[in-house]
Amino acid sequence: MKFKKSTRRAPIEYEKDLVKYWKKNKTFEKSVEMRSKDNSYVFYDGPPFITGTPHHGNLLSSVIKDAVPRFWTMKGKRVERTWGWDCHGLPAEVFTERKLGITDKRDIGTKISLEEYINTCRSNMIQTGSEWNDIIDRIGRWVDMDNAYSTMDKDYMESVWWAFRKLYDDGKIYEGEKVLLYCTRDATPISKAEVAMDNSYENDTDPSVYVKFKLVDWPSSPAHLLAWTTTPWTLNSNTALAVNRNLEYAEVDVDGTTLILASSLLNKVLTDGKHNVVAFTVKRTFKGAELVGKSYEPLFKDRGQGAHKIWHADFVHAEDGTGIAHESPAYGEDDYGLSKKMGFPMVLDTDENGFYTEGDWKGKQIWEVNKEIAKQLLEKKVVWKIEYIQHEYPHCHRCGTKLMYRAHPSWFMNIQGQKQQMLEQNGNINWFPEHIKEGRFAKTVESAPDWNLSRDRFWATAMPVWKGTDKSGKELIRVVGSYTELKELSGVELEDYHRPWIDDVTFKIDGVEYKRIDKVLDCWFESGSMPFAQFHYPFENKEKFEANFPGDFIAEYVAQVRAWFYSLHAVSVGLFGKNSFSNVVVTGTIMGSDGRKLSKSLGNYTDPNVIMDEYSADALRFLFLSSTLLNGEDFTMKDKDVSDVHRKLTMIWNMYDFFTLYASVDGWSFDAAQDKEWDGDVKDPSGDCNNVLDVWVISRVHQLTQEVDKHMQAYDLPNATKPILEFIEDASNWYVRRSRKRFWRASQSLGDGWKSEDDVDKKMAYTTLHYVLVQLAKIMAPFTPFLSEELYRNLTGEQSVHLVNWPETGHINELLVGQMKDVRAVITDVLSVRAAAGIKVRQPLAKLTVPSAQLPYPGELIEIIKEEVNVKEMTQTGKELRLDTKLTPALRREGLMREVVRQVQAARKAAELQVDDRIKLSLYTEAKELAEAIKEHSDAIKAETLATSLHMSPGGYKHKQDTKVEGDTLRIALEKA
Ligand SMILES: [Zn+2]
Repeated sequence: MKFKKSTRRAPIEYEKDLVKYWKKNKTFEKSVEMRSKDNSYVFYDGPPFITGTPHHGNLLSSVIKDAVPRFWTMKGKRVERTWGWDCHGLPAEVFTERKLGITDKRDIGTKISLEEYINTCRSNMIQTGSEWNDIIDRIGRWVDMDNAYSTMDKDYMESVWWAFRKLYDDGKIYEGEKVLLYCTRDATPISKAEVAMDNSYENDTDPSVYVKFKLVDWPSSPAHLLAWTTTPWTLNSNTALAVNRNLEYAEVDVDGTTLILASSLLNKVLTDGKHNVVAFTVKRTFKGAELVGKSYEPLFKDRGQGAHKIWHADFVHAEDGTGIAHESPAYGEDDYGLSKKMGFPMVLDTDENGFYTEGDWKGKQIWEVNKEIAKQLLEKKVVWKIEYIQHEYPHCHRCGTKLMYRAHPSWFMNIQGQKQQMLEQNGNINWFPEHIKEGRFAKTVESAPDWNLSRDRFWATAMPVWKGTDKSGKELIRVVGSYTELKELSGVELEDYHRPWIDDVTFKIDGVEYKRIDKVLDCWFESGSMPFAQFHYPFENKEKFEANFPGDFIAEYVAQVRAWFYSLHAVSVGLFGKNSFSNVVVTGTIMGSDGRKLSKSLGNYTDPNVIMDEYSADALRFLFLSSTLLNGEDFTMKDKDVSDVHRKLTMIWNMYDFFTLYASVDGWSFDAAQDKEWDGDVKDPSGDCNNVLDVWVISRVHQLTQEVDKHMQAYDLPNATKPILEFIEDASNWYVRRSRKRFWRASQSLGDGWKSEDDVDKKMAYTTLHYVLVQLAKIMAPFTPFLSEELYRNLTGEQSVHLVNWPETGHINELLVGQMKDVRAVITDVLSVRAAAGIKVRQPLAKLTVPSAQLPYPGELIEIIKEEVNVKEMTQTGKELRLDTKLTPALRREGLMREVVRQVQAARKAAELQVDDRIKLSLYTEAKELAEAIKEHSDAIKAETLATSLHMSPGGYKHKQDTKVEGDTLRIALEKA
C-alpha cells in the first residue's frame, strides 16, 4: 500500500462519516458475531429514564458502557449489547401530567379517563425514545437499540409478576403499614433512597412552636407541659405526649403560668423574641417517671379511649426541643411505633392529597395552613411562643412538593431477613472504585429498611395481588404469577396488562370473588428485575438467562449505588440467592463549569453536540474516561479541558501527516516492507531494528499495550488511559523529533533499491513509525473509536480496527527504556543548568560529565545527549552532573557562527526565498571577534544557508539588512544565485 500526502481529515468530518460507514457495513454486528457464543462477556444496560433528554451524564455512562465492551471484544469475547428503557413510574407520570396540564392526581379518572392517561403515557415513551438515537451514534456508542427491551413491554411485566409471586411464595413479601415519606401532589409514598439519590432536600423556613398541654390531676394545677413541634399541622391529630423517665424535668413559674420541661433546656427554651432569657422561678425538679401515666386535656377533639396520656419513650432526649414530644402516630415514624407499642389511637385526618378531612381546617392543605395554625393557636394562648427555624427538609425529587410523613398501607419486601446474605454476596462483586464496596454500598444494605414495593399510581406494572373476603369476613389473598394463571382463574386474556384494563379482571375461587388491589409496583423493582425480565425469563430463554447470569459488567453514576445497584442486588439475592453482577464501575457526577449541578437555567454547560462538533466526540470520550469521574468523584466540566485533550490527540495526526508526507515523497509502501504474504496484520519489526530510537519506541508501544490491558482488566479506566497520553508525548516529542533527520536524509526515491546505510536506516524509520501508529490505533480503539478507525484504515487499508484483536505484547527492552528515561532526565537537568547560567543552547560547550549508571550508556545515547545539550564531549564517570560552562575563544566563535546562521536564515525568509533556493551572500561587520568567527566557519555557514558564495564586504546584493549579533552590528546582503 502506497501513501498520499494530505489524507488527513478533520474529526467532525470522519466522525460523522464513520457512523454511517459502521452502519452500512454492519461493523458492530460483525464484531459481535465473529466471537463464539461460548465465550460471552455479559453487559447489563442500566436503563435511563426515557423521560429525560440526553445530557452529559448519560453520555458519560454511555462512554464507559462502550469502552469496556469494545475492549473485551478485542480480547476475543462475545459482548452483546442491548439497550434498555425505563418507561414506568413517577418520572414518566409527572412527565405526562405536565404535557396534559394535570396538577391534581384526583383529575386522573375524573377529568381525564384513566385509559386516555395510560395511552398518553405510552405514546410519550415511544416519542422521546427516538431522540436518543442520534446522540448515542454521535458519541460513538455501539449498542443495539432496535431490539431494546423496555419495562412497559408485556413480556417484561410478566417476568416481574413472576418475580413478585416467587418472593411472595417464599415468604419474602408482606403487607403492612408504615410511616413513609409521602408526596401529596403525586399522592404516593416516596422511598428514602429516591430522596437521597437526588439529594432533594431544600432549605425551608418552618414555625418552631412551643405548645402548652394542660395537665389533669397534677398537684399544682393548672400546670402545662411544654411540647415542641415544627409541624403544627399535626396538632389536630395529637393523641399522646412522650417524655423520658430518666430525664430531669423542672416545674417553673413564668409570669404566673406553670410550665414543665426538661431542666437542662430551661435557658434555651425560656427566652423572648430577642433570645434573652425571661424571668422564671424553678419551683421543683423531678424525674420524668413522675409524669408517665398522667393525662392532659386535648387541644381539640377528645380522641377517645387511651388518648391524651403521657408515655415514656427512649427516643425522647434533651438535645433540642423541650424534652417533651407531641405524638401524632399517623405522621411520624417514632410516634407510629410508640402508638403500636402502647396502644393509644392513631388519627388520620387528611386525604391522600394532604387536605384536612375534619376539624377547624377541613378542606385546607396542610402545608398551606402550617404557619397559620401556629398563629391562631398563639392567639388562643395554647401556644406559648413561636420562633422560625431554617432547616433542610425533603422535597419530592420529581415534582418538588414538600414531603410529609404519613402512615400508609403498603406491600413490603423483607430486606431484614436477607440482609446478611446480601452482604455476603457483595463479597463476590468487584467494585471500582473499591471503597464503595465496604463503604457506601455495604452501608446502604446494612441500614436498609424493608422495601416498600407498592405505589398508589397508575403507569407501572400492576401489582398481581387480588383480594377477596370469605363468609366469615376473613380476608383472602391470591398473588398471580403469570398471564396464563390469570386466564385460568378468570378466563380473561388481555392485550395490555396495564391499568385500567387489569383492574377489571376479577375471578371467583370457592364462591369468593377476588378483585385486584389498585396499587402498582415500584419502578425500581422493575429495573432490579432487568437481568431476567429482559429475556422474559422463566417463560422463555431459560438457558440464555442462566448462561448470562450474573452479568460481568455494569456502570452507572454514584447515586445508583443506593438505587439501581441496590435494587438489582436485592431482587437477585431474594430470588436466586446470589449477586446479579460481578464488576461495577461507579462514576462521579458531572458538575457545570461553575461547580454546581448541570442546569439549563444556570447555563453552566455547553450542549454536548456543540462540544463534539468543535473538539470531536473522541476528545469528549477520552476526557470523561481519564477524569476523576471514573474514580467515583465529581468532576467540573469545562470546555477548555475537552479542548486540551483534543490538542493532545491532534499530536497523533501531526505524526500521521509527517509520516504520509515523507512516505509519499519516498514512495515507501508498508506491505512491501512486511514479510511477503500480507495477512492484514502489521508485524512487529523490532527484530530488524538497529537504531536505538526504533528499538526504544517499539518497546514503549509494548509497554503501553501491557499497561492498558492490565488496568482495563481491573476496570481502572483512569490508569488505563493515563499512559496513552504519555506515550503520544514520547512518540511525538521524542521519537519523531529525534528521527526527523533520518527521514530528511538524501535519497528522493527508492530507485536504487534502498541500499545505502542511510537508506536502510530510513526504511526502518518508516516501518517503525508505521507500526507504532497502527498499534496506537488498536490500543486506543476502545477509548477513541473514531480516531482509531480513521487512522487504522488510512494506514492499512483494512476494513476496521474494531474487528481486530487486542495486540500481543512483544519484547520490551527494559534496560533501554530505563536508560532512555534517564537520558531524558539528564538532558532536562543540563538544559536547566544552561538556562541558569544564561547560556543559549546554540552556544556549544566543551564538556559534560554525568553520573555513572550501573551500565554505561551506549554510544548512540551519548550522541543524543551531546546533540540535545550541544556539548563537544561527554563522559559518564562522575558522581554528579557537571557542565563545563567555561567559554574558550574558539567555542565563542562557534557560538557566534550559529547565531549568524540563524540570522541569515531569517533574512532568507524575509526575502521570500524558497527553502531550496541557492543564494549569493555577503556579510559585513566591524566587530573583530565576529568577523573572525565568520571567516573561520565560512564553509559551515555556506553549507547551512545554501550559499554558493560568501564575501566579507558591505556588499551590493538585492536584499540588505542590518542585524545585531551579541550587540554588534552585522550587515547581511543576499540574493538568489
Ligand atoms: Zn411529587
